[in-house]
Amino acid sequence: MPHPADASVTALYQELILDHYRRPRNKGALEDADAHVARKNPLCGDEIDVRLRFDGDRVADVKFGGRGCAISQASASMMTVLVRGKTAAEAQQLAERFGELLRGSADAAADARLGDARALSGVARLPVRVPCAAMAWKALEEGLRGRG
Ligand code: ZN
Repeated sequence: MPHPADASVTALYQELILDHYRRPRNKGALEDADAHVARKNPLCGDEIDVRLRFDGDRVADVKFGGRGCAISQASASMMTVLVRGKTAAEAQQLAERFGELLRGSADAAADARLGDARALSGVARLPVRVPCAAMAWKALEEGLRGRG
């Protein structure tokens, strides 16, 4: 894993963020959701809602909706890709790992389990943008707590 400060990695990460923003994954309605959490980030005007459907202990499906800055929307898109099909415990662990990434953990920034979400590691250096990146994951955690 190259160092995140490497210019080519920065460009790649920027491209990944824009790709998820322009072509969001798992965005839209989820008719038979078991949990629905909506959050707002007044600092930036971002809105995110996350809908989860569980099959036993597993996240059978996850969708998000909302609007806002590229970081907020890309982070939500990345989150849905990562947690779909995971157990609730695994999804919770990913959310905690992502929280470490946003607090500047180099270890978390290099953790392959975070997939495309590693592209948001640079947000740790922009404290005002951290809530943008965190909100979809906070909504996920709230949805996981509220299941069943
Ligand atoms: Zn934002």
